[in-house]
Amino acid sequence: MRFIFLGPPGAGKGTQAKLLSEKLGIAHISTGEMLRDAVRQGSEVGNRVKGIMDAGQLVSDQLMVELVQDRLQAKDCINGYILDGFPRTVAQAQALEVSLSSMGQKLSGVILFEVSGGDVQQRLLHRRTAEQRDDDAAKTQNERLRVYQSETAPLIDFYEKQGMLRRVSGAGSITEVQARVLSAVS
Ligand code: AMP
Repeated sequence: MRFIFLGPPGAGKGTQAKLLSEKLGIAHISTGEMLRDAVRQGSEVGNRVKGIMDAGQLVSDQLMVELVQDRLQAKDCINGYILDGFPRTVAQAQALEVSLSSMGQKLSGVILFEVSGGDVQQRLLHRRTAEQRDDDAAKTQNERLRVYQSETAPLIDFYEKQGMLRRVSGAGSITEVQARVLSAVS
């Protein structure tokens, strides 16, 4: 069971990835969380990415691919994993294909969370207040959405052409969305 969760910031991917990983007993790999941990620890990687994250831009493909390649070797990935926030560019998706084939692994599917622009704005505002995330500061939000449209949205087509894409509406409560996710992965 190896899934990619795709969708704009504020679509509910992180919440749903956490729930599904617990339910299926597979790893939840959130690249955003990995980077925020690195920033909190003040590691070399953390210092390199902090400004980029605060600006709502993307960390380099090379760094991200290396981080994820390492992470996929960890023991907790043996039964499977959910990639939440990776890949975010076509180059990352292509690098992931190479890594997976070198490990003899195949993806089970890509879940696309579809939400309206209004819902996204509301959830981001809520998250900003609840989690006090620096990178969710108001001006950064717009940049993150812009970057999603230009860099990440092309992945929809990329995975659709491979017959991997499953669309899930991200509207409604956490429980409602969870039910849709469960039926999409089963
Ligand atoms: P997230 O928590 O997934 O929204 O990620 C927070 C921030 O981390 C993003 O706005 C990017 O700056 C950075 N980031 C996370 N994942 C990636 C990725 N796959 N490629 C590039 N940057 C990323």
